[in-house]
Amino acid sequence: MFKAVVIEKNDQGYRSSLQELDDSQLPEGDVTVKVSHSTLNYKDGLAITGKGPVVRKFPMVPGIDLVGEVEESSHPDYKVGDLVLLNGWGVGEGHWGGLAQKARVKGDWLVPLPSKFTPAQAMSIGTAGYTAMLCVLALERQGVKPEDGEILVTGAAGGVGSVAISLLSHLGYQVVAATGRPDDADYLKSLGAVDIIERSQLSEPGKPLAKERWAGAVDVVGSHTLANVCASTRYRGVVTACGLAGGMDFPSTVAPFILRGVTLVGIDSVMCPREERLEAWQRLAKDLDITKLEAISQEVALSEAIPMAEKLLKGEVRGRLVVDVNA
Ligand code: NDP
Repeated sequence: MFKAVVIEKNDQGYRSSLQELDDSQLPEGDVTVKVSHSTLNYKDGLAITGKGPVVRKFPMVPGIDLVGEVEESSHPDYKVGDLVLLNGWGVGEGHWGGLAQKARVKGDWLVPLPSKFTPAQAMSIGTAGYTAMLCVLALERQGVKPEDGEILVTGAAGGVGSVAISLLSHLGYQVVAATGRPDDADYLKSLGAVDIIERSQLSEPGKPLAKERWAGAVDVVGSHTLANVCASTRYRGVVTACGLAGGMDFPSTVAPFILRGVTLVGIDSVMCPREERLEAWQRLAKDLDITKLEAISQEVALSEAIPMAEKLLKGEVRGRLVVDVNA
């Protein structure tokens, strides 16, 4: 038997609860993982509360991230005792996920845990941190260099935003943080932000083109914020779009793209090819200041995952939430 958060949808409605499950109920897969930690991402919050159509099959164990030890494997790359991690691939959406003491998954979805990180540290990075790294890799691939000018990070005090600030500042970029929590300015500066702007400056409908400021941007907010970020990006600057915390729409014009040669790069972590994942985790091991991880993480027990999901969606959680599934 093992404990898991289970989401059910039936005549009585949509409900998440902590349950005891039997190993025989685990889904198909060639690797069984004894999970040690998972995380709570924005998407897990949507799944647990039912506030977004994340879950595609019921009953579902949520948790888009997990880390743990291989308990059984018929996959050639993994043997009993290996430490592995998993981000995305529809886990916690269409296949049982990490908010459980056990998971059975496809070995092809797994990444070996980089030796630099403890399991808990890897989950304090989680999908949010790995997505932040994908954004940084995209900026680099498009040729954005520290000397090109300021990089804007929106949703700065959230999971993706916090790790993005930390990574970019470590790499020598001048990072400006846009936040709705100006009281967190000291926290954002401790991560490496050189300047803070109020998120309301970006969230209202704006002009097709605004004063050029950003050499690059990491946007987790979408909607008018993303439109305004594109409108204020410098000639040939690069905007990476990975989130929709402020809305799924994109009320922009083509002006930034056809008049200033701005590049908008879409970032998807879920189906991202394995090679790029391995690169992202290697770069996280190299470029993420591990001491800053402590400042942006808090650990909760599996039994606290459901109430914390509500708080996460209300924007009441700062940085990353690590779930110790055995606590
Ligand atoms: P968090 O909840 O940790 O952070 C989101 C942050 O966005 C908040 O902390 C807040 O920052 C800001 N925010 C929240 N609501 C609004 C709003 N209405 N208007 C403007 N800003 C707002 O989430 P994550 O960092 O984990 O994820 C951020 C986004 O990225 C989500 O939309 C998530 O779905 C998406 N995502 C996408 C991935 C991909 O593969 N494309 C992978 C991972 C995440 P502040 O308090 O500083 O204002």
